[in-house]
Amino acid sequence: MNYPNIQAEDLAVYEIIKREEQRQKEGIELIASENYVSRAVLEAMGSVLTNKYSEGYPGKRYYGGNEIIDQAESLAVERAKQLFEAEHVNVQPLSGSPANLAVYMALLNPGDKVLGFSLDQGGHLSHGHPLNFSGKLYTIIPYFAKKETEIIDMDEVEEIALREKPKMILAGFSAYSRNMDWKRFKEIADKVGAFTFADIAHAAGLIAGKQLENPVPYFDVVSTTTHKTLRGPRGAMIMCKEKFASVIDKSVFPGVQGGPHDHINAAKAVAYGEALKPSFQEYSKQVIKNAQKLASALQEKGYRIISGGTDNHLMLVDLFGSKQITGKEAEKCLEQVGISINKNMIPFDPRKPLDPSGIRLGTPALTTRGCKEADMQTVADLMDEALMNRADETKLASVKDKVKAFALKFPVPGIE
Ligand SMILES: *Cc1c(COP(=O)(O)O)cnc(C)c1O
Repeated sequence: MNYPNIQAEDLAVYEIIKREEQRQKEGIELIASENYVSRAVLEAMGSVLTNKYSEGYPGKRYYGGNEIIDQAESLAVERAKQLFEAEHVNVQPLSGSPANLAVYMALLNPGDKVLGFSLDQGGHLSHGHPLNFSGKLYTIIPYFAKKETEIIDMDEVEEIALREKPKMILAGFSAYSRNMDWKRFKEIADKVGAFTFADIAHAAGLIAGKQLENPVPYFDVVSTTTHKTLRGPRGAMIMCKEKFASVIDKSVFPGVQGGPHDHINAAKAVAYGEALKPSFQEYSKQVIKNAQKLASALQEKGYRIISGGTDNHLMLVDLFGSKQITGKEAEKCLEQVGISINKNMIPFDPRKPLDPSGIRLGTPALTTRGCKEADMQTVADLMDEALMNRADETKLASVKDKVKAFALKFPVPGIE
């Protein structure tokens, strides 16, 4: 992409874009929630579809002039249905958190009980953080991973559900590396008469790419962001059974949002079109292979991976437990050499959220750039070299040069 008009008319913004392009090109991106969209997705986001107001849904709009916008939104909906075998899809949610707000508002009353994965073990803010709407408006009952295995124990989930009788069971994560037992969640929910809500924000791309099991056939409602493994524009969507279609649609608009972002919805259609191609299944498969290779390469160097490995695109590393380095120290050290990661709590973390024991790593972004298993070995070597020499500025400068040389071998889509 070139930006000749921004360059001519607004040098300040142009230079910011160019500096960020350079950062993305020269760095190793391991943040598990990030990815690089295609040029086609970028073009749709930059299109004149942004000029339109279209409150409502295709065929039932509160503004005129929407016959073409209707086609864009319907195309996104049809492709999403095909991708996830969904009965009904709403592509209007502006991002993951507002999508989840719309789901809670559609199915629950304030004060209702929700069973959700404990935040400090891998749940998301919108699954009950005390400062988030979810924690303020609803009674959140957490379930946990088992201490010995660091894997969710479904018998324990069932026990808690039978005891607490929640109105909704929420299954989903931002930092959990194991498969979710969707079917068992549904069986448990049926025993207590709870709604089932899956939030697949993180793994949606791997599900669309047919590498992980899909909860959509089992669950009442499934939300996802579109910008993580699914590799679309920043945004979200909600999928549900036909019988929830009307309450979900009303909850998104006019419940939570006003006009949809039509340029983003067109970009969602483009991304779903890409995800429907066989090459996206190859991509998803490689994401998981790369994550498993990165995990084993780190294990060989003595780093402890939570639960002993990964089934998906991400992993948590117990840095403090295995190397006496805190998550915060690691984030700072790795940032200095151009490796982006984030500090993260580990299950039963003895440390505090702002300086936890762990870091979270993910492979969706590097895999988009074309990295394979052998490259994951290099990434593990570079990370280890930086962390083991974190007090040595000269050494860190040389690791930074190596990171840059490595990263430049793998082009970022959309950057010259
Ligand atoms: C990322 C994420 C979200 C929120 O998405 P935003 O677009 O950042 O609001 C919601 N749920 C889960 C599980 C996530 O990982």
